[in-house]
Amino acid sequence: MNARNWLEKAKSEKFAIGAFNVDNLEIFKAVVAGALAKKSPVMMEFSDGEVKFLELNNIVDLVKNAEEEYGINILLNLDHSPDQAKVEEAIEAGFELIHYDGSKTPYEENVEICKAIIPKAHEKGLTVEGEIDHIAGSSNVHKEQITFDEIKEGFTKPEKAKEFVTETGVDIFAAFFGNVHGVYPVQPSIDIDLLKKIREAFPDTFLSMHGGSGISDSEVRQAIEIGKIVKINVNTEMRKAFREGLEKALKENPDEYAVYKIMPDVISGVQKVVEHKIDVFGSAGKI
Ligand SMILES: [Zn+2]
Repeated sequence: MNARNWLEKAKSEKFAIGAFNVDNLEIFKAVVAGALAKKSPVMMEFSDGEVKFLELNNIVDLVKNAEEEYGINILLNLDHSPDQAKVEEAIEAGFELIHYDGSKTPYEENVEICKAIIPKAHEKGLTVEGEIDHIAGSSNVHKEQITFDEIKEGFTKPEKAKEFVTETGVDIFAAFFGNVHGVYPVQPSIDIDLLKKIREAFPDTFLSMHGGSGISDSEVRQAIEIGKIVKINVNTEMRKAFREGLEKALKENPDEYAVYKIMPDVISGVQKVVEHKIDVFGSAGKI
């Protein structure tokens, strides 16, 4: 099944597919192990910074190797790419989903770039995600507060979003209704009524929810049930588990210089996050 088939299955069966950001090989292994343990479809996604660090062709090969080795289907997504040339490189390299993030470019230019990318992507069977409202926050553990009023400005306006989706023909729309990137001391709540309105404005387009960290499990379930969200991006909670696991492992093994030997515990900490998300998203047992 390709990405589109998976998204259709998710929509009709009311589950979401986790789009897990991958920073390094340990997190990569944790996502593979979580997907296998839960028999779940997964997306692996790489942001601009993560692509720079790991390099495009390495990513494609890693994913292909894991698919062959374990007989699983990993949906490879380019996450929040602000650059048309990089999007086109990823289309050529073998990604299955593309998220072009034109939220910081003027609206008309965003539309034009989407229109240029989409035929190339569709020709290869890829799906394209678009965005107009810039999501608040960043994928980190924040000490400062973020309030509902601060982020309200960037919320999706259903009519404007409908216009964008109709003009461009994007397959997935990144909707913002209280979801934020990152984990905060007090996580903002999501606006379910707004999500309902977004869903009703363009019922045929897939919806994604960024900011799958920090948000409560019950709100996630509501977003899937009511908003038919089919793709949920997760990053910060995995980064947190990795870092805390690594700090603990280094402390407990002060004389070990073969670092790979202390990594299994670090990986299993990240895997626990992946498996928990898969359970909440309802995608366990779908493969
Ligand atoms: Zn995001």
